[in-house]
Order: sequence, then structure tokens, then C-alpha cells
Amino acid sequence: MGYDLSMRVWRGDVDGGALADFTVPVEEGEVVLDAIHRLQATQAGDLAVRWNCKAGKCGSCSAEINGRPRLLCMTRLSEYDESETITVTPMRTFPVIKDLVTDVSFNYEKAKEVPAFAPTAPDADGKRRMSQVDVERGQEFRKCIECFLCQDTCHVVRDHEENKPAFAGPRFFLRYAELDMHPLDTNDRRKLAQSAAGLSMCNITKCCTEVCPEHIKITDNAIIPMKERVVDRKYDPLVWLGSKIFRR
Ligand code: SF4
Repeated sequence: MGYDLSMRVWRGDVDGGALADFTVPVEEGEVVLDAIHRLQATQAGDLAVRWNCKAGKCGSCSAEINGRPRLLCMTRLSEYDESETITVTPMRTFPVIKDLVTDVSFNYEKAKEVPAFAPTAPDADGKRRMSQVDVERGQEFRKCIECFLCQDTCHVVRDHEENKPAFAGPRFFLRYAELDMHPLDTNDRRKLAQSAAGLSMCNITKCCTEVCPEHIKITDNAIIPMKERVVDRKYDPLVWLGSKIFRR
């Protein structure tokens, strides 16, 4: 059964903006992106929204729904009461370009700072070998779709623009961990993760893990192991604390 959805959508650009109220007819089984598309098609033709696959795999339609970082295409309207007003705003951590579209180039700059994979010399037969357990460990990290919702929710940069130069963020701690745990990589990324990428600024609150649409255990499987690799446990109370609290 369809119904009329009350929506508040942020409209504006780099010079500022405000929430605008809309009523949008929606159908059973639809997601928030469907409502946004219908709004765009019928009432607000110039509404800017970035999207691509509509299947939770391209990481393009990241935004905030009722203040929580979410993919618009993976958030079902049935999660909300039909009488509830759904508020859709752009990711807060990145500069707005227009409406729901933000400039996420911060992340691409941080990506450039991660040294590329540098493999060991091949064996005598020209092949490189690694054990299956090492292959499998990296699989979880490669599920990342670069939606940057973890970057958006991270309190180190969310309201602290001044921290951005010194902090790479959870998505890139994942990348550092993936490469550092790779048995064939010759780079030692531990010092870089700690100094240039600001690993020590992370106090493992797990907000990044909670918003990841790929359910990657960013904190437990990447950040805490990287912290453990960087410093000795007894000198880092956060590492000790992380090993004590319930792992999700
Ligand atoms: Fe998105 Fe998860 Fe990748 Fe972060 S780790 S960018 S939340 S898919």
C-alpha cells in the first residue's frame, strides 16, 4: 500500500542552505533513494543527488538520514513509521557542492598518501606464494565500496576540520592494515600509519564499524590490530581497553 511520505531535504550549496519540506507519494518496498528520485522527477527537478548502482555496491549515494550516515539506496522506508518525517541531509564531514552532493576529494588525497603494494622478489620458479589464511584475512578489507560513511561519522574529523591534515580516517586505516598484514608486501607501514595518518588520534569508539554497509569490522580487525603492531600493548591504554571490551 502506498502512502504520502513527509520529507525534509537539505537544499543549498557552498554559500549555505536550509531544510525544505516535501510530501512525496511512495510505494511499499521502496527505499529512500526512490523517494528522492520521485521528488526530483515531480517537484524539485534541480535537486542534486549522487547515485549510480542502486544496489549498495558503488558507494555513491552516501548521505545522512535523520542524522545517521546511510546509503540512500539501502535504507528501506519500512524502517520508519509512515507518520514519521524523514530528514535527508548531505554528509556533514565533507564540503557541500549542492544539495545532497558533497566534495569527497579529502579521501582521494588521503589515498595518495598510502604507499602502493611493493611485493617481494618472486621465488626461483617466478611465482609468489602466500598461505591461504593470509589470502582470507585480506578479503574482508577488500569488501570496502568507498562510500566514506565511516569517514563521515568519525568524530575526529566530523566537527574538527583542523584534524583533517593529520588524520587519514577509518577507511584508510583499513587499507594500511590490509597492506601491512600482507605477507608479500615489503613496506613497513606502521610508522606511517601512526605519524602521517594519525592512527593514535583514533580512540576506538567503533562508530565507523556501526555505519559500514559492508559490515566490515573496521575497529576490531583493522584499527586495533594496527595499533597493536605500532606500539607495545602496555604503553597504550586504548589498545588494552580495546582488547577488553566486547568485540563486534
Ligand atoms: Fe564505506 Fe565500510 Fe568502506 Fe568505510 S570501510 S568506506 S563504511 S564500505
